[in-house]
Amino acid sequence: MPWTIPNLLLHDGRCRCQTQRSLGFKKVWVYCSNPDCHHNAGLDVEHLPDEVTFNDLQPGMVCTACGHRGADVRTA
Ligand SMILES: [Zn+2]
Repeated sequence: MPWTIPNLLLHDGRCRCQTQRSLGFKKVWVYCSNPDCHHNAGLDVEHLPDEVTFNDLQPGMVCTACGHRGADVRTA
């Protein structure tokens, strides 16, 4: 698991993990925001609290490939 849950940040405040799950998504894709890296990985959102949003998660994510802080979270 390249991304740790406490560091994960999701995208926009309206996009809740609960919403993701209700749409059938069990994973989101996390992309390093370092343009020289672009490491990406799937992250399991099944066990995150319903009220956690992409926006909560995104800024605190730390890339395990390059150490960059901050990542993009996408559903596909
Ligand atoms: Zn990176």
